[in-house]
Amino acid sequence: MKRFLTLSGRETEELGGEFSAGLDRGDVVLIRGELGAGKTTFVRGVCQALDVTGAVTSPTFTIGQTYEGKDRDGLPLLISHLDLYRLKSLEDEDPGLIDDYFGDDRLTLLEWPEVAGTPLNARTTHRVVIEHDGGDRRLVTLN
Ligand code: ADP
Ligand code: MG
Repeated sequence: MKRFLTLSGRETEELGGEFSAGLDRGDVVLIRGELGAGKTTFVRGVCQALDVTGAVTSPTFTIGQTYEGKDRDGLPLLISHLDLYRLKSLEDEDPGLIDDYFGDDRLTLLEWPEVAGTPLNARTTHRVVIEHDGGDRRLVTLN
């Protein structure tokens, strides 16, 4: 476990970029934190470091979106970004709802993983927690 203090959104993006160096195809990253903590900001940093060119924002009308980036060897890498905030739980949903966003061929980054509950644990390889620490300060814990 490593803990970092960031002082701006830019610093959280940079931390996401450094964190991305330890990620591999097939990895699943859970990102917890309150609304406005900086989860999407962190994801943006990961995606930019992996050569995603378009905008990285929380998906508004779907629970997830998939970007095309590049891995360390310059090979194409899919990055799926989910935000389960709008769902109360996955219990009332089609069990396959989020399955398409996971796979050996891609990296999966998930905001509000609490909603999906314990079934996600078996798939999880990394955990990120972002906490407010006054003003623009955030405590970021990487596992
Ligand atoms: P979340 O996805 O957790 O709801 P966002 O990443 O969408 O949060 O928004 C975080 C907001 O807080 C952004 O407007 C960002 O610029 C701002 N911010 C200020 N300081 C920080 C920081 N240290 N880390 C991350 N975001 C920060
Ligand atoms: Mg978000």
